[in-house]
Amino acid sequence: MKIICIGRNYAEHARELNNEVPAEPIVFMKPESALIRDGKPFFLPDHPRDVHHELEIVLRVGRNGKHIAERFASTYIDRIGLGIDFTARTLQSELKSRGLPWELAKGFDGSAILGDWLTPEELGWPRLLSLRLEVNGEIRQSGDTGQLLFSFERIISFVSRYFTLKTGDLIYTGTPAGVGPVQRGDRLQGYLNERLMLQCKVC
Ligand code: ZN
Repeated sequence: MKIICIGRNYAEHARELNNEVPAEPIVFMKPESALIRDGKPFFLPDHPRDVHHELEIVLRVGRNGKHIAERFASTYIDRIGLGIDFTARTLQSELKSRGLPWELAKGFDGSAILGDWLTPEELGWPRLLSLRLEVNGEIRQSGDTGQLLFSFERIISFVSRYFTLKTGDLIYTGTPAGVGPVQRGDRLQGYLNERLMLQCKVC
């Protein structure tokens, strides 16, 4: 199983980190060992200095495919949910400034939180989906799929030119503005179309 992630897919988030808005999707991966599900806690690692939350809509791939045309891409999505792409931000900035890969800052144990799933039909997709992250009851991030630079179909088509998509693969589709650090004791709650779909405690 692969965890494919898209960077800077909301223009406001690209700007808040002083990054250029990309012309093509920015793609990176996390290892399977990064995954935490079923509401299990996230243990802050001791290596990075700061870990930021990035709430993202996650797609679960329902069948195998490669070189998928954009017009058929929606048929490859069998579930939609929420996830958190935890990021060691200072380490990522250092790696970026040195032109090095980001994996150490993005793929560490527990860096991919996964919440509950719904079918695209249950969510009314492709109608607009909204996402919101609350930390200790305060809104930190909110956005909707109308702000996406690259649609889900475009992402699936693009990444499947390079990687064969397989049933069960996950695609984290990027985060809206408002990313910030988490601390021990924080309680994170993610809402998709106003439904509570993800809960995570930071330990
Ligand atoms: Zn992300």
